[in-house]
Amino acid sequence: MDASEIETLAALQVIDRRIKDKEAELAELEKETGGQRSLLEAKESEAATAREEHAQVASRRRELEAKLQDEEARMKERRMLLGRLRNDKEASALQREIEIAKETNARVEEELLTLIEQSETIEGNLKALDDEVRAIGENVARLGEASGGRTRSLRSEIEAGRIERESLAARLGGTLRRRYEQVFQRRDGIAVIAVTDGHCRGCNVTLPPQMWNKIRRGNEFDSCPSCQRILVWQPAAEAPPAAGGS
Ligand SMILES: [Zn+2]
Repeated sequence: MDASEIETLAALQVIDRRIKDKEAELAELEKETGGQRSLLEAKESEAATAREEHAQVASRRRELEAKLQDEEARMKERRMLLGRLRNDKEASALQREIEIAKETNARVEEELLTLIEQSETIEGNLKALDDEVRAIGENVARLGEASGGRTRSLRSEIEAGRIERESLAARLGGTLRRRYEQVFQRRDGIAVIAVTDGHCRGCNVTLPPQMWNKIRRGNEFDSCPSCQRILVWQPAAEAPPAAGGS
């Protein structure tokens, strides 16, 4: 590893950390809008189910109302027939039929009342759901508007950063590049770290003197035996070449 490779590594890490921060901000923005969007979908589907239920109740109501109307007409016929019947046996059979029909109608009327109550409950729920859907929808639109510009600029900055980091990374040897990229992923964005006073500044472990002597000569790279970060020599008085030295 020569001086220019050390510089390249340090510059690459600065760009990669910047990209990483922007990606995190973008993910946070998308998560926020995404959460509101799925909430909106859930409420919309709840409202659709309630509407369907309401339609079913309404259809059963119509069915029962028609049945009651038919029954009223038939009851009128039965009463007229009863007035004309001279045979006691036939009359009492018809009277019995009328009593049974009355009971049946009373049950139908009871069911109708229940259906009307159900219908009103569903209408109340639906109104609340529609209000929620409207409020969440407005929130989604507001979020989209507020974060839309930031989202777009983050995307283009990330894209530009990637192009820049690729051209830098291409200057590194294959082994060094792979090593750097692996450690960058594993060590949360700090892959290159300074050696100061014989310590790795990434994990603060004391390095064997022969190791930091080798690093000080600067002609080959070595990794910290404890945190695996790529070590670069840095006299104690200077700032680390790589971003983030804690
Ligand atoms: Zn270390």
